[in-house]
Amino acid sequence: MKTLFLCPPSFDGFDGGAGSRYQARREIRSFWYPTWMAQPAALVPGSKLMDCPPHDIDLKACLAEAQNYDHVIIHTSTPSLKNDAKVAEAIKSQKPKTVIGFVGAHAATLPEETLKTVTAADWVGHKEFDYTCQEVAAGRPLAEVNGLSYRQEGKIVATPERELIEDMDALPWVTDVYKRDLQVEKYSVGYLKEPYLSFYTGRGCPAQCIFCLWPQTIGGHRYRVRSPESVAAELAHAKKLFPQVQEFFFDDDTFTANLPRARAIAEKIKPLGLTWSCSSRANVNYETLKVMKDCGLRVLMVGYESGNAEILKRIKKGITIEQAKQFTKHCHDLGIVIHGTFVLGLPIETKETIEETIRYAMDLDLFSLQVSLAAPYPGTELFELARQNGWYAKGDQKDMLFADGTQQCALEYPGLSKEEIFQSVEKFYHRYYFRARPILRIVKTMLEDKDICVRRLREGYEFFKFMAQRKSDMAG
Ligand code: SF4
Repeated sequence: MKTLFLCPPSFDGFDGGAGSRYQARREIRSFWYPTWMAQPAALVPGSKLMDCPPHDIDLKACLAEAQNYDHVIIHTSTPSLKNDAKVAEAIKSQKPKTVIGFVGAHAATLPEETLKTVTAADWVGHKEFDYTCQEVAAGRPLAEVNGLSYRQEGKIVATPERELIEDMDALPWVTDVYKRDLQVEKYSVGYLKEPYLSFYTGRGCPAQCIFCLWPQTIGGHRYRVRSPESVAAELAHAKKLFPQVQEFFFDDDTFTANLPRARAIAEKIKPLGLTWSCSSRANVNYETLKVMKDCGLRVLMVGYESGNAEILKRIKKGITIEQAKQFTKHCHDLGIVIHGTFVLGLPIETKETIEETIRYAMDLDLFSLQVSLAAPYPGTELFELARQNGWYAKGDQKDMLFADGTQQCALEYPGLSKEEIFQSVEKFYHRYYFRARPILRIVKTMLEDKDICVRRLREGYEFFKFMAQRKSDMAG
């Protein structure tokens, strides 16, 4: 079947791509690559990947393109499901013979519920869906394809589970699909140079963080990896395909989960002379950091989450505050830039723990940071805990986003309302950035490079506009 892999039009600026831990509209316009969809697209000859939000493709243009296909596979998420269901209905009503599949963490966790919600969907993929998509696209009957749920005579039937992929090198490269179907200039993340390009070198994360979406739904807790040779070869290929790319990002859940391998990849890619960055836990030793820095590493994206030791234990972060401080000092000493991520509203947040986290972040003195609201996605331990303990905000529909796509607070705790948690995000940003050191750091980068100067001014404008929008969303 001629197959279209589709990230449908959604909220303005909706970032639901592969590296998106929180599918929402961001403080500044930001898009991760749709790597989860590019991978099966690379397995299906003659297919196309259409990533609507970053390319500003509206519903009309999306429907016009979908007419040309027999099979449309839609990537969905918990916050965008209702919207994606409407897109699927529109595709089906304009061409009823179109076979429609739904994939993504939400579909993988709740396949039956997803099929009930999305009446236009014919099948829903479980867990890793790469080879499932390939087999359905090849025309194999749904009943004979492992790892999906489908409709049969008015009932929903699940086929046997599919094993997680072990031979990661057997997967074709996604960068050829990027070249064919995406404009790299449309992708941007605030702390990476523009344009950037990202892909995976492995899937899964051994850590057990209870709020984290991907390892608990699709990727699993075993880090399944590609060989350093394969990673270096794809990077060399990408360098030729995209000479304009300024920075490459390894979008693995935790690239540093296997330190000898991280060092081996760094050494293999050093001769390419590229600037690269990756995700990391705050527990990498100095020697490894030094090797990576010497081989072109620029930025580490690090999940610190909270400055309260008890919360870190409850969320099973597996890293202490002391370890994180030591790691951060090593990065500062080596000149590695850190983009830190924090989450407010994790169990059991109080006014005091929020204050502790803000002070902790200021003490760490990171180059940049991102503050998110805890999002209890189905399939995560946080989702279950929230249900069992009654942490869902009263009268809430469990919506994670406002109508314009910005994150809203779904949880609250005794003595701390969802409004207070919501407002503390803005307080966090203000307290952190409106100090001499961060301002001087940003001004320095602006003075050094005219393009950066223009970019930061644009981002500043977007940030303040976003914050004003959040306030009006909250006011209702
Ligand atoms: S270390 Fe990062 S990727 Fe791994 S489970 Fe924790 S938050 Fe998720």
